[in-house]
Formats: sequence, structure tokens, C-alpha cells
Amino acid sequence: MKNAGAVKTCISCNKSMNLDKFFYKSKASADGRAYYCIPCTKVKQEMYRKSERARLREKEYYKKNIGKITKYAKEYYKENMDVIKAYKRKNTEKIKKYKKEHSKTYVKENADKLKESRKAYVKKNPEKIKEYNRKWRAKKSDLTLPSK
Ligand SMILES: [Zn+2]
Repeated sequence: MKNAGAVKTCISCNKSMNLDKFFYKSKASADGRAYYCIPCTKVKQEMYRKSERARLREKEYYKKNIGKITKYAKEYYKENMDVIKAYKRKNTEKIKKYKKEHSKTYVKENADKLKESRKAYVKKNPEKIKEYNRKWRAKKSDLTLPSK
């Protein structure tokens, strides 16, 4: 055998061991042997199995208690509805304010551009503008009529 008596260092425990006795064959590595020694491989496999089991247990728990979990979430929402709603309300105000501020600065910064585009629109759609103005006046007089 070519490799008889050859030694390899495990990249996990850093121990040099007999290649044939302590390293599994592996097509993935350059020398045809695993990077980890057999004891390290076994430890790793055991750790993987344990974490797999824990994962499955968690899944099982979730499946078994889905009713409880959703009920808890619902109850939490119910109990904290005011806080949640208040928080949302607060944020809406913030968002509204931001939008308002933003549109204000946009109009300010683009006043000339907006004016030009409005002018161009009016020039392009004189009939539409006339119609709009007529309707607006009619609506206005409609609104002001009862109070007179
Ligand atoms: Zn090792």
C-alpha cells in the first residue's frame, strides 16, 4: 500500500494520526482523505444529530402548540392594543408630517419648473381648463347658494 504508515494532521484537533486508521476516505479532498480524523468526525456527527433533534423537537412543539401560540399572540395584541394603536398613530403623524414637509420643499425647490409645466398644460388644454373652471364656478355657486 502506497499510504501505509502515512500521517495526516486533523484540522480540528490538530493531532497527527495514521492516515489509514484515523481518516475516512473522501473524494472531496486533494489527498483522498477526510480533513477531520474519525473521532472528530464522530463528534461532529453527534453534534449535528443533536441539533437536528432539537430542531425537530422545536418544530413538534410549535405544531402541537400552534393554537396556544396564536392565542397568546392574539391576547398580547388585545392587551396591548392601545399601546400598539398609539404607536401606529404616532408614526402616521410623523409620516404625514414628513410628507407635508417634503412636498413643501419640493414645491419650493421646483417652483419655476412647476409653474412652467402648469403653463404648458394650460396652453395645451385650453378647452379642458375652461370646462374645469366652469364646473368649479358652478359647484362654488351651488355651495354658496343655501347660505344666502
Ligand atoms: Zn481530530
